[in-house]
Amino acid sequence: MHTVILRDDDTCAFTPRACLEKLYRPFLERGFPVNLAVIPEVRTDARSPDGHREGFLTAGVGPRGPLAPIAGNRELVEYLHGEQGYQVLQHGCHHDTFEFGGSDRADLARRLDQGARCLRDAGFGRPATFVAPYDRMSRAAYLEIAERFEVISTGWFEAGRIPLRWWPGYVVKKIRRVPHWQTGPTALLSHPGCLLSYQRPLPEMFASVRRSVESRSLTVLVTHWWEYFRDGTADEKLIGVLHEVAEWLASRPDIRVVSFRDVANGRVPLNG
Ligand SMILES: [Zn+2]
Repeated sequence: MHTVILRDDDTCAFTPRACLEKLYRPFLERGFPVNLAVIPEVRTDARSPDGHREGFLTAGVGPRGPLAPIAGNRELVEYLHGEQGYQVLQHGCHHDTFEFGGSDRADLARRLDQGARCLRDAGFGRPATFVAPYDRMSRAAYLEIAERFEVISTGWFEAGRIPLRWWPGYVVKKIRRVPHWQTGPTALLSHPGCLLSYQRPLPEMFASVRRSVESRSLTVLVTHWWEYFRDGTADEKLIGVLHEVAEWLASRPDIRVVSFRDVANGRVPLNG
């Protein structure tokens, strides 16, 4: 049996409802949960590490002002509330570049609490799962996040960033060569990179997703809605691959698609 979690990052006040609907209808109608890592209060001139305005801003439309809370996009928020399949995760606070890479615990705590407040203002329940912008977390960030969330989803784990008191669990994970692990009540899930991305070769994309899912017990598939709508235009070929994945998942009785909430509730064995 294989288990898949679909994670889509960067939904924010700039995200058109129609983009998510076009991407995820084939998942929703099959009863597959879609986990949205939502930016609670996006900075409207957020920059990627290479200095460009973020794609999740240029693919959509948003308000003026330095910060845009998710509750301001009422059409999107109502749509998300109306679809049971969407699960909301907290994705940073403002999506400042590497905003959880610093070591100032008071600043990290403020961002976590401000982000949680903005999600609450939009009527979303407390998320069980946290995703850091660019998957970057410092030791201090891990500790603050683990105090507030049951699940942390990130790219990979390295000893230099793991809190020292977590090392025993981390060493066991390394020895067992497993992708996911647990420290105290916190589940720590890695992912095999963003396989569904315009930056990957299109002809090999579906096969790499299939290989990845079949090679382990639990796979977190990460994608970004705005990559399918770069500068506002739909990339139909890339969308076609995503929908092919939905069809394939549905065709396989030995694969189940679950949510991060299922992991938080202990319903999913991490490494089989
Ligand atoms: Zn992001």
